[in-house]
Amino acid sequence: MNKTFDVVIVGAGVTGLTVAALLAQGPHSSRLRLTVIDAATRPVFSAVDDVALRVSAVALGSATLLESVGAWEFVQSSRVGIYDRMRVWDESGHADSSSALSFDAAEFAVPQLGFIVENVLLQHALLNVLDNSDVELIFEAPISALQEEGQKYRVVIDNRKLDADLVIGADGARSFVRESVAISTRDWPYGQSAVVTHLTSEKPHQNTAWQRFLRDGPLGMLPLSDGRISVVWSTRENTAEQALTASDAELGEMLSEASDYVLGTLTVAGPRGAFPLVARHAEKYVLPGIALIGDAAHAVHPLAGQGANLGFQDAAVLAQVINAALANDECPGDRPVLRRYERARKGENAQMMHFMTGLNRLFATDSTLVRELREIGMRLFNNSGPLRDRAVKVALGVGR
Ligand SMILES: Cc1cc2nc3c(=O)[nH]c(=O)nc-3n(C[C@H](O)[C@H](O)[C@H](O)COP(=O)(O)OP(=O)(O)OC[C@H]3O[C@@H](n4cnc5c(N)ncnc54)[C@H](O)[C@@H]3O)c2cc1C
Repeated sequence: MNKTFDVVIVGAGVTGLTVAALLAQGPHSSRLRLTVIDAATRPVFSAVDDVALRVSAVALGSATLLESVGAWEFVQSSRVGIYDRMRVWDESGHADSSSALSFDAAEFAVPQLGFIVENVLLQHALLNVLDNSDVELIFEAPISALQEEGQKYRVVIDNRKLDADLVIGADGARSFVRESVAISTRDWPYGQSAVVTHLTSEKPHQNTAWQRFLRDGPLGMLPLSDGRISVVWSTRENTAEQALTASDAELGEMLSEASDYVLGTLTVAGPRGAFPLVARHAEKYVLPGIALIGDAAHAVHPLAGQGANLGFQDAAVLAQVINAALANDECPGDRPVLRRYERARKGENAQMMHFMTGLNRLFATDSTLVRELREIGMRLFNNSGPLRDRAVKVALGVGR
């Protein structure tokens, strides 16, 4: 008889729940006993609540993945912002200058470039799917220890111990799993924090994702379904502190100015928060019996809205590798199996991380020469079909 394996997924964020759904619906799901644990209470989306502060730009490729597990229908019927255009420009120019970058869904023959979705809605939709599976979901259960027991790991939560052939660490940027097994990280602090809030704008957002590169960091404005915009303003830490304590009127003024009034005057219309920004990459994604995915493995700058999208891709590849291993009667926790996942994802994520860091630096410079070269580069980019095509494919999450 075929052997059955225990898999414990630590973290019910978007990446942990996606890998759980993919494995639960895989061709060998009957050979997996899947458990998801999370320290927090079960996330619940309600359409009567205001749009949550934490939203993600979900690329087309990620939406297709969520559709494949049956989670996208609920997301789409609930509340999603759509963007069919992207506008990128820098401090020295204007949004409609010749060096500004503009991408249109029509140009790439897709109905839209992506979606703006509340993280809690993504989690809710995935949990709906998992409620109809054999996956055991345990909330309010912070992992308190991870013990190596021969070929297995023992996951200790308050009043239970779970033995696992494979522990998937999907527990976010400060991963307990990663630290418990002593996987070190390389960190590159940006010296920036991201200020997030919702705004109303004098002019309509035109279903466009706006990004202005400023010397202190980029300002992103994403269209919400109710006409407001979600802003992610990456800026110096002391400016972010000021933004948190400023009055609504003062913050509105700071953001209107930072956006160069591209949407007219901006007015704060929601709570606010700030997240310190760091690029972080785990030295290893896997050990025998352990795999890290999502923010537990890598944290990237939010400037191109790629963090969650990279996590979705990790989840897809890890599920694929595990299913292939089961088909070959291999244990999903074996190192050679997990190395296939690491080989497929680590280099790819590193490339994206360094690209974000480089882009952030390129725009943060005081050098006139670099500024001029940058403008020439942006004009050349605008006129190069293949380059534009490649950039948009990456942004859409449909190829490289
Ligand atoms: C300001 C900002 C804007 C962003 N915008 C975008 C965007 O537009 N597009 C995009 O793709 N990405 C964006 N991101 C990144 C994105 O939010 C993250 O990459 C993504 O949410 C990571 O998902 P995750 O499931 O890996 O981790 P998380 O969402 O961090 O989930 C980790 C889960 O693990 C649980 N957990 C933690 N510790 C324990 C423990 N000890 N025991 C049990 N459970 C535990 C937590 O409760 C949580 O539920 C943004 C990030 C920031 C900071």
